[in-house]
Amino acid sequence: MSFFINVILPLPLEKHFTYSVSLDEAQFLKPGMRVAVPFGKSKIYTGIVSEVHQIPPSVYEAKPIEQILDKAPVVTETQLKFWSWIASYYMCAEGEVLRAAIPSAFLLESETIVQLLNGVQVNDEELTDDEFLLYEALQAQSSLKINEIIQLLDKKTVLPVINSLVEKNIVVVNQEIFEQYKPKIERYVRLHERFSEEGPMHELLDQLNRAPKQREVIFTLFGMAGKGKASVKISELTKKRGASPGVIKSLIDKNILEELKIETSRFNPDLEEISGRVHLNEHQQQALQEIETSFETQDVCLLHGITSSGKTEIYVELIEKAISQGKQVLYLLPEIALTAQLIARLQNYFGEQVLIYHSKYSVNERVEVYQNVLRNKENARIVIGVRSSIFLPFHDLGLIIVDEEHESTFKQYDPAPRYHARDVAVVLGKMQEAKVLLGSATPSLESYFNADHSKYGLVNLDRRYGDVLLPEIEIVDIKEKHRKKRMTGHFSDRLLEEIKETLSNNEQVILFQNRRGFSPILECNTCGHSPQCPNCDVSLTFHSHNNQLRCHYCGYHMAMQQKCMACDSVELSTKGFGTEKVETELKALFPEHHIGRMDLDTTRGKHGYEKIISAFENEEIDILVGTQMVTKGLDFRNVRLVGIMNADNLLNFPDFRAHERSFQLMLQVAGRAGRTEKRGLVLIQTYNPHHQIVQQVSTNSYHEMYREQLEERRNYKYPPFYRLIRITLKGRDYSRVNEGADWLAISLKNTFRENILGPEFPPVARIRNEYYKNILIKIPQGQSLSKTKDLIGRILQSFKAIGAYRGVKTVINVDPY
Ligand code: ADP
Ligand code: ZN
Ligand code: ZN
Repeated sequence: MSFFINVILPLPLEKHFTYSVSLDEAQFLKPGMRVAVPFGKSKIYTGIVSEVHQIPPSVYEAKPIEQILDKAPVVTETQLKFWSWIASYYMCAEGEVLRAAIPSAFLLESETIVQLLNGVQVNDEELTDDEFLLYEALQAQSSLKINEIIQLLDKKTVLPVINSLVEKNIVVVNQEIFEQYKPKIERYVRLHERFSEEGPMHELLDQLNRAPKQREVIFTLFGMAGKGKASVKISELTKKRGASPGVIKSLIDKNILEELKIETSRFNPDLEEISGRVHLNEHQQQALQEIETSFETQDVCLLHGITSSGKTEIYVELIEKAISQGKQVLYLLPEIALTAQLIARLQNYFGEQVLIYHSKYSVNERVEVYQNVLRNKENARIVIGVRSSIFLPFHDLGLIIVDEEHESTFKQYDPAPRYHARDVAVVLGKMQEAKVLLGSATPSLESYFNADHSKYGLVNLDRRYGDVLLPEIEIVDIKEKHRKKRMTGHFSDRLLEEIKETLSNNEQVILFQNRRGFSPILECNTCGHSPQCPNCDVSLTFHSHNNQLRCHYCGYHMAMQQKCMACDSVELSTKGFGTEKVETELKALFPEHHIGRMDLDTTRGKHGYEKIISAFENEEIDILVGTQMVTKGLDFRNVRLVGIMNADNLLNFPDFRAHERSFQLMLQVAGRAGRTEKRGLVLIQTYNPHHQIVQQVSTNSYHEMYREQLEERRNYKYPPFYRLIRITLKGRDYSRVNEGADWLAISLKNTFRENILGPEFPPVARIRNEYYKNILIKIPQGQSLSKTKDLIGRILQSFKAIGAYRGVKTVINVDPY
């Protein structure tokens, strides 16, 4: 009798690969365990067992495995099912899903590089002989490859040794180059809850008569925190008389004080402000009840709550209920909204039950989070994380929250799997029988459509918390202003007037300018030439701070030119404007004020983003200029004025969602104004004051926008009426790409007729010396999705078999938006 296993390899292979195992191995192995297997000429990979069986492969001879790496599965059966769903829906290989789904440290292979963790301290007794040998070797050489370790230890089975050192947090593998995000932990104390009543409180004080030092500390704490409730930083407390670390520790040991370890960063709000549980107001209460009612009959509910309506507090209530039933909770949000502000708020409520999964986490931190969720540790009940946290090994999810569900960053563009975390969360919810709550102030058209058609529940919350008024929105016609010569650079007289007014009241201003991509381009006034990137089909943009011309696609750069490269003319000017230009103009206009800029360039460093936010929050910055980064989730108290520098470059973006996106962005950024009693003001500068989207933003008419955009989608055959699949061909040889695209489009048209668009060059048709061409497939309602995908798969297979098109890669993107 022979035994086999099917293995998912972390490679873009169509199928699982079959290996032979012994009877013992077959009895031991379970789906979800890791095995090291040979693949290709001489490579070793880590794969995941998907099945144990007795059917030999028909077209090749099964090789034996190298070794078994786990004692228990590291991937659950649900995950395996989930991966296979993702692979088939997004038309990619399960191996590609595997790569995205588990920490790379789990996937040791021959090319893996092993290094010592920085500054690690090791107790020899913790290590086996092999582990110690490797540890010593790594002290001498900064890194070793697996093959070198095989020689070093003089045996083939080295992966368990490395795995064990990873788990003990001694070595790192495949260390990523980016700087690591290391949260700072701050220790807090607060009085234990049982003393919140008068009676126990008095008893405690009586009891402490015999311990005057401890009594004094309690009184100091009252002084700092008010009666009982709030937590105080230990580092602050110890500054006070009598509050020595020793006394505090004994109060903690006696369970009189409760210690909290909270992740903080420089820009954390004082916990005093947010500690203690808040009570929902009646509108929040009602929304909560409606959500719960909706969950009785439906799995997904959309919470449409305007900015600052207090959605987070509703989430907190729902999370609380789910974990009290012993369930796990996943709280998904876009990277940029995963602020220390929010984390502190949740940790303050839920303490160590909260796990954070940040995209900037190191490989080892990912391993730790993954293991904790897998083992359903007490401190892993709530995961708050970015897109990829949907891949964690949950086994008993009760609730998934997708906040800012309209955000485009939930979609992964590269590499495969090109999934949309919100959509996938709905599927994950089904598999785990968890409820899914989507929240947004400006829901995506697709989600609202689903709610509108009773596929999802729908709950509205249209009051700001504390009945703070929505800001007043005013449109400024800059065509008119130009004509009347009332523009100073990119500022209308109206905007300048309001900036001055705001600053004179010591209030703050946010100015929004869409992306860096619209940065200034150098143009020759004599011949019209603009310097181009040699690798990509784009003009280089001018960056004044280092006096360079740069390509935003590949990073190519050169020094700023003094004369035209084409005609030698010295009459050069910069066209278009970006955040940097706005900042420069502002500095000239308001020399005595502090101006900050927030975009990809200024937030690159380790804590770049946090530093700017912190400076703004502490009112060290008066005017903040930024890209979409300023639109998300931040809760600034002192912002009265928001200026949108130019609405038109949002609206004119060549994409079927440009209007919807513009609406969302403008309303989100408007939501940053006036979050306190005083009403905020938003000025939108535009050449098209009558554009329907600008009008709808100014009157806060989500429903009108929805109905109008939906009509357009229906007319032009876009989602949610049609589904889209995009095939991108790319390659270094222009004519091969071109001819290949024609061939493919014709074959597709034979089957799908008028529902094939293209081939067409995208706006930037060459990036890093590769040419791109797109074909769009539209799938009407009622046409079977799986059959369509099968047909596309078959056509692509024929395409790949044609020698003339070798070297042309195809990339499939399902729901490419
Ligand atoms: P949203 O996410 O809907 O934009 P938030 O949840 O950030 O709104 O809430 C806006 C502000 O109102 C926050 O500062 C929050 O602390 C405060 N807030 C919301 N609900 C309550 C409540 N029930 N009690 C006290 N403060 C609240
Ligand atoms: Zn010229
Ligand atoms: Zn380039």
